[in-house]
Amino acid sequence: MEQYDVIIIGGGPAGYTAALYTARAGLTTLVLEKMFPGGQMTETTQIDNYPGMPEGIDGITLGMQMQAGAARFGAVTRNEEVVSVELNGTEKTVKTTEKEYRAKVVIVATGASHRPLGVDKEKELTGKGVAYCAACDGMFYKGKTVAVVGGGNSAVADALLLSRIAKKVYLIHRRDTFRATKIYQQPLEQAENIEILRNNVVRQLLFGDKLTGAELENVKTGEKTLLELDGLFISVGRSPATDLFAGQLELDEAGYIVADESTRTNIPGVFAVGDVRTKAVRQIITAAGDGAAAAWYAEEYLMKTGVDKE
Ligand code: NAP
Repeated sequence: MEQYDVIIIGGGPAGYTAALYTARAGLTTLVLEKMFPGGQMTETTQIDNYPGMPEGIDGITLGMQMQAGAARFGAVTRNEEVVSVELNGTEKTVKTTEKEYRAKVVIVATGASHRPLGVDKEKELTGKGVAYCAACDGMFYKGKTVAVVGGGNSAVADALLLSRIAKKVYLIHRRDTFRATKIYQQPLEQAENIEILRNNVVRQLLFGDKLTGAELENVKTGEKTLLELDGLFISVGRSPATDLFAGQLELDEAGYIVADESTRTNIPGVFAVGDVRTKAVRQIITAAGDGAAAAWYAEEYLMKTGVDKE
């Protein structure tokens, strides 16, 4: 069985920042990432709010650079999916589809994934007109008619991105005010091909072999509208990836791992970083900040418990 000082589950900005810090501190470090480096960043073509990048950067490149930065100090990455964990005690076990690993410290950086809308046939139509990532799938809808559901920053950013690709974009929001920041207001109003449908919810998906439209209901008036659509992008928030940890780590009612700024969880030697942790602001920079904090407190834990002397 392979043994490390630190195992990090998840290779997004939180995971790779933790890996950079722990590897640079001389701790043997393994990052387990089931897909590509970067996590949710890989769904973003242009990141403008990570400092030090005056021209912005695309998420795939930033993810690869974060991995390379950690690898430079010896952090190992394995593209394996974690299937179970045993977190109690000073020796923690992490099982993947391929192998079993042991570590003194586990840092959970599994992030969050798209929340489904919960409308009938949503799952069956995913990839057949229903999508969750405008940056990934937007190009399939060049010159077509699409809708985005949601009123947060992601939904508005998706609508703006799609307005540069699609012929027409409906933005469907269940309330009359948007949660999205003001910075998006002006471009939203200026985009001639975006039509905002406030106080509307999607009641039904319309389809043949693939999505053909949606039935909306105005929650104030009860009025129903049929929209003909080629694509429906669902952008109604995210759910944390914490199924693996239920029963061991304390989770809040929404499923996020309970941890404060120290990133310590209820189990000594286990830390939670990035979007998977209970926190107010979920951004790349705050995820990276968590990674640095976790490495700091992991070192403190190893020194205090003396498990680094074993
Ligand atoms: P979010 O801020 O939680 O917004 C989710 C939106 O979906 C809300 O408008 C919500 O409506 C709506 N919604 C939720 N469930 C729904 C349902 N069942 N039916 C219809 N609408 C539903 O999520 P997000 O936009 O994905 O953003 C997540 C985090 O990332 C936020 O902290 C955000 O600021 C951040 N982010 C930042 C940027 C940026 O700074 N450039 C870009 C993207 C994301 P209500 O408003 O009525 O609750």
